[in-house]
Amino acid sequence: MSGFLFDELIFGPVHSRRLGVSLGINLLPTDNKYCNFNCIYCECGWTNKDKGVKIVLPKRDNFKTKLENRLQELQGTVNEPDAITFAGNGEPTIHPLFAEIIDDTIEARDKFAPKAAISILSNASMLHKPKVTEALKKVDKNILKLDSAIESTFQKINQAIGGITLSKIIEGLLSFDGKLIIQTLFFRGEYNGHFIDNTTDEELKAWLEILEKINPEYVMIYPIDRGTPAKGLEKIPYDELNAIANRVKAKGIAAKVY
Ligand code: SF4
Repeated sequence: MSGFLFDELIFGPVHSRRLGVSLGINLLPTDNKYCNFNCIYCECGWTNKDKGVKIVLPKRDNFKTKLENRLQELQGTVNEPDAITFAGNGEPTIHPLFAEIIDDTIEARDKFAPKAAISILSNASMLHKPKVTEALKKVDKNILKLDSAIESTFQKINQAIGGITLSKIIEGLLSFDGKLIIQTLFFRGEYNGHFIDNTTDEELKAWLEILEKINPEYVMIYPIDRGTPAKGLEKIPYDELNAIANRVKAKGIAAKVY
């Protein structure tokens, strides 16, 4: 599998435009991407669907000790984190002990980095699991993916594995009562014999309609940044992304292009 992978459980801190000094958590394997989506633009590369591949997820105890040690090291330094961010090589909420790990993270944050906001970048695919949703609702910033509000486009872009549907995801997003951030990556291009474009008027109308219902704190809008596993995807120019952001703002929802 080609693509960019984080080779550590806890990485950084990195200086992030959107999150400040952010200590990253990769709750996924360090040698493999592990996700229940297979987004055609994923910068980690294609999802490995070979069932023979051994997936090793971090152990809860090891994670807790490592996080506490790292936060203690950073205490009082210029790199004391503004954010503790779950990102990494796949989808963090599929870790079977995700909820318990969130409790450990909150405890460690309160003890060693009380000013740090806990953020999670998630594809929102596990919101049908009450334990996952309850855990997410305990953190400061849920940054949840919504690349299209049309089921067929969602399947073509995100290539959800295991029967995950967009309607189920939207149901989960609505349950946050607006206390969430939506992230959307816009692009166009051909893949697998289909021309995919989530910037068409039909796409944007459906997406804006759902955004109004979800009523997020704000919307993060992205172009393609790094190399993509599907070749021939086009980066959307910033002026076009800004025009999309303005349509979001016209609905009374904050939006920013990154
Ligand atoms: S959800 Fe994220 S990690 Fe999973 S395939 Fe999509 S971009 Fe990659």
